[in-house]
Amino acid sequence: MPEIDWAKEVEARKEDLFSDLFEVLKINSVKDMAHATEEFPVGPGAAEAMLKFLSLAERDGFRTKNLDNLVGYLEYGDSDAEAFGLLGHMDVVPVDDKWTTDPFDPVIKDGKLYARGASDDKGPSMAAYYAVKIIKELGLPISKKIRFIVGTDEESGWACMNHYLELEEMPKIGFSPDAEFPIINGEKAIIGVKTVFPTLDGAGDMKLENFTAGLALNMVPPTADAVVAGAPASIEADFVKFLADNELTGEVKFDGEKATFHVVGVGVHAMDPTVGKNSATFLAAFLNNYSFDATAANFLKVVSEYYHLVHHGEKLGVAFEHPVMGNVTTPANLFKYAADGEKSVILNVRFPEGTDVETIEKQMSEVLNPFGVTVSTEPGGNRKPHYLSGDDPLVKTLLDVYEKHTGLKGFEESIGGGTYGRLLEHGVAYGALFQGRENVMHQPNEYMFVEDIIKSATIYADAIYRLVK
Ligand SMILES: [Zn+2]
Repeated sequence: MPEIDWAKEVEARKEDLFSDLFEVLKINSVKDMAHATEEFPVGPGAAEAMLKFLSLAERDGFRTKNLDNLVGYLEYGDSDAEAFGLLGHMDVVPVDDKWTTDPFDPVIKDGKLYARGASDDKGPSMAAYYAVKIIKELGLPISKKIRFIVGTDEESGWACMNHYLELEEMPKIGFSPDAEFPIINGEKAIIGVKTVFPTLDGAGDMKLENFTAGLALNMVPPTADAVVAGAPASIEADFVKFLADNELTGEVKFDGEKATFHVVGVGVHAMDPTVGKNSATFLAAFLNNYSFDATAANFLKVVSEYYHLVHHGEKLGVAFEHPVMGNVTTPANLFKYAADGEKSVILNVRFPEGTDVETIEKQMSEVLNPFGVTVSTEPGGNRKPHYLSGDDPLVKTLLDVYEKHTGLKGFEESIGGGTYGRLLEHGVAYGALFQGRENVMHQPNEYMFVEDIIKSATIYADAIYRLVK
């Protein structure tokens, strides 16, 4: 068989591809729990976009199945054959008022297609769909069947894929076109580790009444607040200096003998805490310079000595580095302290292959138990890291195809986040953000270069065919 010119095949379908892509981009598919019903468990928009995607596949002669408006799939090839999986999603993150165009009215300007979902993940999903469509239309012989699974809740709870896993078998091998090129073949495990602090006897010059920070487990807290009784007026000058020295902002307000401290740090995604500034641990480090009641003194000491500026668990006994997957990360993200109530901090721990949940729990307990602090892992999360070696045939094939069509050198990449790739025993994420391109996923004015959508369709077609023939 002569070699197939995949780029030419994509080019011949370019207009159809963009016309189909515009159709799904026009649907506002932000998760909408305010309008969730039994029929539409994550709201109607995301389901509508998924059903539109499936209707295009039906039009093109694929078998399709909708699983209760949460997740669907299209399939091609012998239904009894082993499945090769593709996993994309039609839900998108919310939009704000910083858009200069209507996020749900796609427009092409200067070679860029602007719309919410253009790069995450409707554009890449449509590119992968056209790859499968080309393989079908060319009537190429394949030995596996291709199952393209389309989710509606990737951006938050993964209710879609959880539902799929309850009802259907997940293909063993495949990829998710929902990240970047050249490849993501490693994803850390992600867990919450809760540390609970004791109540101790003993008073001090000041009393910590309240300490709160944190919006979500996967985010370094952007702001922190503490209410302190008995603070001297002179503490204000110290606090102002502390903020300035650490390039933070904030304020302290006095009301009678109570002082309320507010610190503004830099809240970032927990996968890389080094680029953020943890408002809560900075506030604890400041307060730790003063004499507090025994319970608070113990809390502030542990937070400022063991959690503050400790991005990789160095002082918690859990530091570990994998040559490809990188370091353990341990930001302390959720703080709850009430003088007469719960006192806890939850850390978002992400770890590579080579350690595990039990080891981490044991190591942290050894360090923290002497302070009366108990350590337990929160239920759920991704409790095991996911890694496919660079020698794996799937990884090798995908990198080969990438190199052939880009002329660039492929390399392995690992992330602290999670993609659908980890749902496949033998899965990775592959595209569609190219090296050197700005990552505008989740941003206002999200776009994807038209030429990148075309190029990724070409890469996907070549790669999928090599893996299913
Ligand atoms: Zn995505």
